[in-house]
Amino acid sequence: MSNEIMKIPQATAKRLPLYYRFLKNLHSSGKQRVSSAELSEAVKVDSATIRRDFSYFGALGKKGYGYNVNYLLSFFRKTLDQDELTKVALIGVGNLGVAFLNYNFLKNNNTKIEVAFDIAEDKVGQPIGDVDIHHMDDLEKVILEHDIQVAILTVPAAVAQTITDRLVDSSIKGILNFTPARLSVPPSVRIHHIDLAVELQSLVYFLKHYPTPEVSE
Ligand code: ATP
Repeated sequence: MSNEIMKIPQATAKRLPLYYRFLKNLHSSGKQRVSSAELSEAVKVDSATIRRDFSYFGALGKKGYGYNVNYLLSFFRKTLDQDELTKVALIGVGNLGVAFLNYNFLKNNNTKIEVAFDIAEDKVGQPIGDVDIHHMDDLEKVILEHDIQVAILTVPAAVAQTITDRLVDSSIKGILNFTPARLSVPPSVRIHHIDLAVELQSLVYFLKHYPTPEVSE
């Protein structure tokens, strides 16, 4: 990430990939400008938040004109380091891990699962798509060889911390944790937790306790 993004609030930084994806689609359909209302409808973020977010990177939309798509795109490309490929390692080639291996992350942003790891003898050495599955014994060596910066964890929760400690001691800078384990990392490593079961439960809770208004015909 470039230094510019450091000055942007974290909540804004998290929305940048969302904006970027939509603007890329607009650009390829030949649109030169976009209003905050159009953006708001497409990315489901209210337009006041969009205007505030965009003001952080000097994009001050003009009334009746909106935002210049090319300007925004070049800003996002620089800020999100879209010109540079981020190589990702996937640890744990189970049901969820295989789904990620089959998902084309490259389609929407410049990240690619480059290598995967497991301990199961029947998985190691059997590539999925163009990704080789290595044994965990070779974790540090392969991460170094491929210059991997980010890891996705889709292993059983019980082994997640031990694997995280090994990742921390290698060159890994960021971990996307899909296990329910709450993991400890030093401040030099960034970790994002995505617990699908908790997210689903929280959605169901909100549906029950904060029902969405009925749409009348
Ligand atoms: P998922 O949870 O991804 O849906 P699953 O139910 O098939 O998969 P899990 O038991 O959760 O299987 O394990 C996920 C994957 O992690 C399996 O492929 C398993 O072999 C692998 N795994 C288990 N222990 C380790 C470990 N210590 N290091 C690396 N991989 C491991």
